[in-house]
Amino acid sequence: MSDIHERLQAIRARMATAATRSGRDPATVQLLAVSKTFPVEAIQEAVEGGQLLFGENKVQELLAKAPLLPAKLEWHLIGHLQSNKVRKILPVARCIHSIDSLDLARDVDRIAAELGLFPKVLIEVNLAAESTKHGFNAATLRSSLEALYALRRLEIQGLMCIPPFDPDPTKSRPHFIELRGLRDELEKLGGAPLPQLSMGMSHDFEIAIEEGATIVRVGSAIFGERKAKV
Ligand SMILES: *Cc1c(COP(=O)(O)O)cnc(C)c1O
Repeated sequence: MSDIHERLQAIRARMATAATRSGRDPATVQLLAVSKTFPVEAIQEAVEGGQLLFGENKVQELLAKAPLLPAKLEWHLIGHLQSNKVRKILPVARCIHSIDSLDLARDVDRIAAELGLFPKVLIEVNLAAESTKHGFNAATLRSSLEALYALRRLEIQGLMCIPPFDPDPTKSRPHFIELRGLRDELEKLGGAPLPQLSMGMSHDFEIAIEEGATIVRVGSAIFGERKAKV
């Protein structure tokens, strides 16, 4: 078995254990394999290991790789989306995790209408208000909720966050709890379900699952260390 197969199996087992430990059904948590910077050969290996759901953080890279791989794969965009790339990405990405401003949401809605699409999206929340990261802060999101729900083309499925990196994964827990709490609050405020919580990466996905993640975004723990800084 290849390294990628072995790592995938190990991660799936750890995901199931984390779910069971916290009283959740393992089937309620999806593994998004983050393949940024890795070649199509590595992705193909993961496919042979049973992985069908992949994430990329750059539009250009996603659009270059997707046509070289089986059509049955599902692609999610997890990085910042510039408005001038919306038209290209919408037909290819099944879900956009990184709706990080009302302006972007409006552009996606308008172009989706032109293309006859109803894209699935998640709202990115910048919990720690880090200036280096994109996303709504909690207050802006509360006050933008009505405007977001007025965008009838968007299937708003939930929230996404990238907590500040800390080598100690337990430091992510308060952020995951906060995102879940904000989700619960927005569901009441908006009167619509937000079932998806995209949170947890290679070093902290088990903690994210314990705190309610429904999609974990795991890259290096599957594919190995990335050489390029992204
Ligand atoms: C790169 C990336 C990941 C995966 O990071 P790893 O630490 O390699 O698991 C997850 N989410 C986003 C938004 C990313 O850009």
